[in-house]
Amino acid sequence: MIEFKKLPFFQAKEIFTRHHYLHYLSRASIMNYAVYRDNKLIGAVSLNGSPHGKFKEKTLALSRFWLKDNEKNLGSQVLSSLIKFLKKNKPKYKKLISYACSCMHEGTIYKAANFKFVGISKGTLDKRLTWRKTSKIRKSKRTRSPHLLHDKLKFEYDLVKRRAK
Ligand SMILES: [Zn+2]
Repeated sequence: MIEFKKLPFFQAKEIFTRHHYLHYLSRASIMNYAVYRDNKLIGAVSLNGSPHGKFKEKTLALSRFWLKDNEKNLGSQVLSSLIKFLKKNKPKYKKLISYACSCMHEGTIYKAANFKFVGISKGTLDKRLTWRKTSKIRKSKRTRSPHLLHDKLKFEYDLVKRRAK
């Protein structure tokens, strides 16, 4: 059985800084949960409100998703459990979005959990800043990850839709 238990920000920050490929957690994170399976810690997730879009106040963005082990199908199982958990405990949100880095193969877990692929979003720093500014920012601890420059695959899950057949 997969369960989600609230994590205080400072603990979540420690976990994601150490284990997640982006190596930081921003203050925009509004919900952090440790993921347990049969009472054993197996990972952690962090959710943000969405800064864009028509339904932004009803949208949650899965901004960090970390699993301790690279076990087959576990990613999509945790995502499906997270969807059930959000539907039950956070009914005000109607949509869950997530961005997978194009340099990785994470997209498959979203597809397996019935997320819809909705498009590609350009790497953020690349789009907004000149290279000179970008390299200066990249030196700072918070944004040192090269993944910020990579394009992201955007996935969406409609939390109000009926269960897909
Ligand atoms: Zn990347």
